[in-house]
Amino acid sequence: MSLDVTDLTVTYGGQAALRSIDLTVETGQRYAVMGPSGAGKSTLLRVLAGLEAPTSGSILLNGNDITSSPSYERPVGLMFQDNALFPHMNVIDNVAYGLRMKGMPKDERTSRARDLLSLVSLSGFDDRMPTSLSGGEQQRVALARTLAPRPSLVLFDEPLGAIDQALKDDLMLELISIVGTVDATSIYVTHDRTEAEAFAESMAILREGRVERTGTPMGIWMDPRTSFVAGFIGHRNVVDGRALAIHSGPVVVPHGAVHVDPDGEHTATVLANTFRAGAYDLTIEVEGQRLVLPGRDRAYNDPAIGIRIDATSIIPLQVDEI
Ligand code: ADP
Repeated sequence: MSLDVTDLTVTYGGQAALRSIDLTVETGQRYAVMGPSGAGKSTLLRVLAGLEAPTSGSILLNGNDITSSPSYERPVGLMFQDNALFPHMNVIDNVAYGLRMKGMPKDERTSRARDLLSLVSLSGFDDRMPTSLSGGEQQRVALARTLAPRPSLVLFDEPLGAIDQALKDDLMLELISIVGTVDATSIYVTHDRTEAEAFAESMAILREGRVERTGTPMGIWMDPRTSFVAGFIGHRNVVDGRALAIHSGPVVVPHGAVHVDPDGEHTATVLANTFRAGAYDLTIEVEGQRLVLPGRDRAYNDPAIGIRIDATSIIPLQVDEI
């Protein structure tokens, strides 16, 4: 059983926002969909949630074709970045809202909502009003509200986008732990690769309405295949291998492959030494290619240094077609 999206296309007035998307997400998997702004992420999410109909294609959830089901009949929960809680309702009523809409009796829904508040570590917050909660607490209430109706598929749309950086790491760990305790498949949609990689067991990278790449975060990191994917997931040294005489096309040069060596085959211009987290990121230019070598224990103050590149450690890329 799984989520199976087949040949999904969405066009707006002749312009395609999604172009024949195929995706499979295994039941219970934590999946991420990422890509730059305009890649089609929100469109995919809206179509999965049933807020918008696709132009063509099909969506099967655990074997059931939900392509034409109205959103309220789908076992799908959606949590947005600006997941405003209902301001006039206290916490417990916010969490129980979806259950009330489904006609669950009051005792039962209060009991279920309390279980969810306990799951998100907010037991005892029942009577608090949303304005009295911190941003992180509001997000946890929103998560409890999303999970209360036991969705089979949970969609997260940049859920941590509005949260302080300092809190994000903690909330991400909590989110992963909570999602692990409910029996749901989850899809996390974001343009932020660090969030996607932290969350996902498997992911898809969208580009201009197409799936450019699917795989595990580590699998994609080790073999990004295209310059677009390499750059997007955070490889810094995507360079022309011909200029460095190490390959016939574009490559990723892992920083461990570059050694500062007075007898090295290249002379590099030192562009910058940037102090960060107890070490220096050394930026150099070699044969017209810029390389960043993070984690150096000292700054290099010479205008030029010799370097050696270990060609066996490079990651070859395809020549991008788009
Ligand atoms: P993302 O979420 O990755 O930033 P979107 O799904 O919002 O991308 O948008 C994908 C493309 O579809 C963009 O070119 C966007 O301008 C277009 N688009 C999205 N929604 C609409 C709409 N309601 N009407 C017309 N064009 C839209």
